[in-house]
Amino acid sequence: MDTYQGACKYCGEIKPIMAESQAAADERVSNDCACGGAKLEEIKARLMANINFISRKNEEKALSQLTEEQVKLLKRAGAEIVNDNCNKAVFDFGGSKVTIWEAGEKYKVKRTTTREELTEA
Ligand SMILES: [Zn+2]
Repeated sequence: MDTYQGACKYCGEIKPIMAESQAAADERVSNDCACGGAKLEEIKARLMANINFISRKNEEKALSQLTEEQVKLLKRAGAEIVNDNCNKAVFDFGGSKVTIWEAGEKYKVKRTTTREELTEA
């Protein structure tokens, strides 16, 4: 154990800390930093997992698998919402719509199908 100048990877703040290595010092300072960067990363990771989940094919709900490009679009929007650059995003993919929004402390993702069947006689 030695004293290292650990740097927060989110905000750059430097703090002296006892650690095994520079990398371990950086990691510890990043996780404990008052900037909240680590918590934000965790929230983002959960939101991305939710976006993957909601983009899948779901026959029961008449939802088809979204394309890779569409999922990328959703993730980009999700990241901007977590970064506070946007409050809500709505995507119309034709067969379904996806809404991503901030609700208090939470980030929600909703996918609705816009499919319908109409017959006439
Ligand atoms: Zn920080």
